[in-house]
Amino acid sequence: MDYLIWILIIVVMMISQSFLSGSYQKYRRMQTIHQMRGCDVAKLILERNGVYDVTIVPSKGGTLSDYYDPTRKIVNLSSDIYYNSSIASVSVAAHEVGHALQHAEGYGFIALRNKLLPATQIASQLGWVSIFIGLISNIDFLLMFGIFALILIMLFQLVTLPIEFNASSRAIVQLRSNGIIEDSEVASSKKMLQAAAFTYVAALISTILNILRILLIRGNRNRD
Ligand SMILES: [Zn+2]
Repeated sequence: MDYLIWILIIVVMMISQSFLSGSYQKYRRMQTIHQMRGCDVAKLILERNGVYDVTIVPSKGGTLSDYYDPTRKIVNLSSDIYYNSSIASVSVAAHEVGHALQHAEGYGFIALRNKLLPATQIASQLGWVSIFIGLISNIDFLLMFGIFALILIMLFQLVTLPIEFNASSRAIVQLRSNGIIEDSEVASSKKMLQAAAFTYVAALISTILNILRILLIRGNRNRD
C-alpha cells in the first residue's frame, strides 16, 4: 500500500511540473498588446500603489526563479520575466509585486507564515533524516519526531496557499486596472498564474501523502 502512495506522489509532482512548464512555454510566446516589459510592469504597479522602498532586480537564477525577498525588500525577476513583455512575463512580475504589496500592508497570513518559518526550517532539515534513522534503527521516537516535522511543513504549506492565491488575484486586478493588459488577455494571464499556483497545491498534497505513507509503514511495523 505505501508504495502505491509513493507512486501517487510522483504522479502528482510530475503533473504539476508539466502543467507549469507547458503553460510557461505557451504564455512566454504570447506577446501582450501593450508590450510592457516585466521590470516596467513591476515598477509601475509599485508606484501606483505608493510603494517606493522596494527594488526590482534581474535575478541570477534560472527559469521561473522569481521571488520577493521581504527582508531586503527586493523583487527578484528571472531574466525572461524581467526583460520581456509576454503574458508570462507581465503575469509573473505582477504576482511577485503582489507579494511586495501584501508585505507593505501587513497582510495577515504573512505574519502567520513568518511565525511558522523558523520551526519549519528546522523541520525541513531534520524531518527526513529523523524518519530515515528511525526506520533503519527501529527507534519509534525518531519516527514520531519526523512525522511531527512533516506535519509542521504541511501547516506551513497550507498557510502559503492563501498568500499565493491572494498575490495572483492582486496581480490580475493591477494588470487590468493599470492598463497593462486588455480584457481579452485576462483569461490567459489567469491560466499562467493558476499553473504556477498549482505547484504549491501539489507540494501540499505530496506532504500529506508522505505523512500517510510514513504512518502506514509505522503501523505495519508495530503490528509485526
Ligand atoms: Zn508567489
